[in-house]
Amino acid sequence: MNAATLLEFARAAEARTTAPCTCTKTPLDGWQSQPLSLDETQFREIGTLLPEDYAEPTFSEYLPGKTTYWSADAPIAPRYFPYNRCSVWECALCGRLYLHYTEGGGYFVDRRIRAVKAGLIEDVPLPP
Ligand SMILES: [Zn+2]
Repeated sequence: MNAATLLEFARAAEARTTAPCTCTKTPLDGWQSQPLSLDETQFREIGTLLPEDYAEPTFSEYLPGKTTYWSADAPIAPRYFPYNRCSVWECALCGRLYLHYTEGGGYFVDRRIRAVKAGLIEDVPLPP
């Protein structure tokens, strides 16, 4: 799924979800280690943001201004790290969308999750 598709899904999800849900108990506006209280089985994967050309996804991050990796207002730029490694999850109970990936490798593995906000999705091309 590319930025345009993700945006379409995110807008549709935001239009139909207003009520709180078990998935909104912990704020996930920025990246978080997946809370233990979160029941993974209530999500279904509806796609991934992995590049379709099988190229090794970049580790470059797109963080304009004062945003950092952890910022709640950091843009969601699907071609950049870590978005280019993410699965797109939909909460089966409320339809909200989340991004999910596993950070690290070897001894350090951390499952991270972030809520998708349509307003933060930016279709930024990679530098040549
Ligand atoms: Zn939910």
